[in-house]
Amino acid sequence: MKLLVTGGAGYVGSVCAAVLVEQGHEVVVVDDLSTGNADAVPAGAQFVQADMVAVASDLLGDGSFDGVLHFAAKSLVGESVEAPERYWNGNVIKTLQLLEAIRLAGVPRLVFSSTAATYGEPESVPITEDAPTKPTNAYGATKLAIDHAITSYATAHGLAATSLRYFNVAGAYAGLGERHATETHLIPLVLQVATGQRPEILVFGNDWPTPDGTCLRDYIHVRDLADAHLLALQTAQPGEHRIYNLGNGTGFSVREVIASCERVSGISIAARDVERRAGDPAVLIASSEKAITELGWKPQHTTIDEIVGDAWEFTRSRS
Ligand code: UDP
Repeated sequence: MKLLVTGGAGYVGSVCAAVLVEQGHEVVVVDDLSTGNADAVPAGAQFVQADMVAVASDLLGDGSFDGVLHFAAKSLVGESVEAPERYWNGNVIKTLQLLEAIRLAGVPRLVFSSTAATYGEPESVPITEDAPTKPTNAYGATKLAIDHAITSYATAHGLAATSLRYFNVAGAYAGLGERHATETHLIPLVLQVATGQRPEILVFGNDWPTPDGTCLRDYIHVRDLADAHLLALQTAQPGEHRIYNLGNGTGFSVREVIASCERVSGISIAARDVERRAGDPAVLIASSEKAITELGWKPQHTTIDEIVGDAWEFTRSRS
């Protein structure tokens, strides 16, 4: 297939673009490099450095594309609470413009990076796709708004659309991993303590209603996520918007993640308990039964040490 990948210089987008190229697809990456890295665009993909909205009509206009994978987004939860305008403009307004370019060019398929943050504080776990969607921050709210827009486009205009709601993405593949200028995610931060780039990891809250008092999250390997994107492209049906949660169905606590980082790196990691971080749910665990049944998705990296191991190899190679 000929595919446009927005945000293909970012973490998840670049891994997906690399896997698409490996599988023989023709890939065009568009990324403005506001947070991505040019050297993360896989060899074999064409790279257009631009705002996707400025170039979408031109790129898609000749009707030759079979699909768009839309990763480009602002994705810092804390920033989205403090400056929601950046998220409503940067995520929602821009995606509506992209959707118009897709409609006008008659592109048949869309895969969208949605998020577990669309659900907010869950009423029960594991979280299924029919759980209530009550996002607790602007990041999740903008992703949910986009999901609703995509449903309307699929219904009215025959788009074959899939939203993939990622839980905690981690790991690395083919030399591509998390390289955020502002790092907020647990695993890369803990590994930076292991390499000496940070003095300690702060544990946000030790009084949560969980077995060891720290939050539980469902970590999914970025390579397994890429497989789900390929399957979504292959199975999507015109006029339908399908939504899938993607995780491993197992929760690991912050302390368990730190212990895994110590096992994998062989380095003792300094950790300090501090106050809870605002907006953190105690437990987020996915039910991915729908993706397993309908997409035929099978995650290959299911232990925390495998996921952390690949992240560690990547971190070490760059430090
Ligand atoms: N966390 C932590 N210290 C940090 C960063 C994260 O204790 O420096 C915790 C956070 O409170 C959450 C878990 O680690 O319970 C995963 O956080 P992350 O930001 O990686 O992902 P999120 O679940 O917020 O999407």
